[in-house]
Amino acid sequence: MSNYLKSLNKLPKNDLIDKVLLEAKELKTPIISDEGIMFLIQVIKIAKVKKVLEIGSAIGYSAIMMALNTNAEITTIEKDELSYDRAIKNVSNGNLSSRIKLIKADALEVELEEMFDLIFIDAAKGQYLKFLERFKPNLNDGGIVICDNLLFHGLVSDKEQIESKRLKGLVNKIDDFNHKLIEHPDFDSFIYEIGDGLSMSIKKG
Ligand code: MG
Repeated sequence: MSNYLKSLNKLPKNDLIDKVLLEAKELKTPIISDEGIMFLIQVIKIAKVKKVLEIGSAIGYSAIMMALNTNAEITTIEKDELSYDRAIKNVSNGNLSSRIKLIKADALEVELEEMFDLIFIDAAKGQYLKFLERFKPNLNDGGIVICDNLLFHGLVSDKEQIESKRLKGLVNKIDDFNHKLIEHPDFDSFIYEIGDGLSMSIKKG
C-alpha cells in the first residue's frame, strides 16, 4: 500500500489488536497485510458470511480481526504448538472464545462435518491445493475461498532471482497452485494484487 493510502486508511484497532500486532513483531510471525484483512472483512460483510473456516491461525490476528469486525463465527486450525498457545491466549484475552473455535491439528488430518460460507487459506504455502480439495466438501455452493500469499513476496512472478533450491521448490508449488486454482472447474477465481497476492474463488453450484 502506498504511503498516501497508509496515511489515509484506518485499520480498526483496539488494545487487543495492538497487543497481538506487537507480539507478531516480537515473534517474527508473518501476519496478513492491512489491505488483505480489510478485503476479507468486507467480503464477509457483503456476502453475509455466517461461518468462516481458517486454515492457519498463527497467533490469532486474522481470526480476532474477523470476529471483532463482523458477525461471523470462526473455526481456525493451527498445527504449531507455540502459535496455537498464543492464539488461545489472545482469543481469551479478547473474550472471543464463544466466536472463535481453535483446533490444534494439522489441517490435512482434520475431519469436519460442518459447512462453511467462507474458507480462508493462509497456512503452509506448499499445501494449498491439498487444503482446497480437503475442505471443498465443507463449503456451501456459492461459498467463497480466499487464499493469501500467492505472490510470495514477489518471488512467484520473478523466479530467476531465487538461489536456494528449497525456496525455488516452494515457489514453484505456489505457481502451480495459482494455475490450478484459476483453471479449477469447481470455482470462479481471480487473483488480486492485494498485499502478498490474494485470491477470491466462488464455488459453483
Ligand atoms: Mg499470510
